Amino acid sequence: MVFQALNGQFNLMQNISEIEELIKLISKLPGLGPKSAKRIVLKLINSRDELMKPMANSLIEVYKNVSRCKICGTLKSNSYGCNNCNSKDKKFNKICVVENIADQWSIESSNIYQGYFHILGGTLSSSSGQRKEDLLISSLVERVKKNSIEEVILATSATVEGQTTAHYIKDSLKDTNVKVSKLAQGLPVGGEIESLDDGTLFSAFKNRNYLKNNPD
Ligand SMILES: [Zn+2]
Repeated sequence: MVFQALNGQFNLMQNISEIEELIKLISKLPGLGPKSAKRIVLKLINSRDELMKPMANSLIEVYKNVSRCKICGTLKSNSYGCNNCNSKDKKFNKICVVENIADQWSIESSNIYQGYFHILGGTLSSSSGQRKEDLLISSLVERVKKNSIEEVILATSATVEGQTTAHYIKDSLKDTNVKVSKLAQGLPVGGEIESLDDGTLFSAFKNRNYLKNNPD
């Protein structure tokens, strides 16, 4: 055993500084705390060749070969270039603008959208000190002009910051003549009225559709 449980608490991992450092790093990952970090480290130590070594190599490879594209903000391979904004085989006339790469991955895996992505890297927010210059908004305008884009779909969050950002992007695109749309907000599928928060209910009312009596 590398560590022992004492009254439900784990003692320091035998004061081995490398192990302490690894636990500290792993516990900074989303959804993990010190306890799960310790379990992960122990698993790695017990699987040196099957897990620890390939994982260490893989981390180095990703660190060296993957970076954010400076034009569209998504992840790109440093050896093959960006397959989102610089793809030779795929040509689209739409760009979907999202706040971060996790949003891109969710939309991609839902298969509801075929087109380019543009990842801002955050939202305009007075509290987080995020400045307009930090978001990839001017490169979005450039992309629209250069690639005969017909529609920009704003898929920012339904938060004040997300909507302020969407508004600012719409303004920045006004000289390009591109069609700008925004994701609808309203009742979630399967949502019951009584369980909705005020913001969702307000937006569902505001974006209501008129029903036709005689559909043709
Ligand atoms: Zn790119």
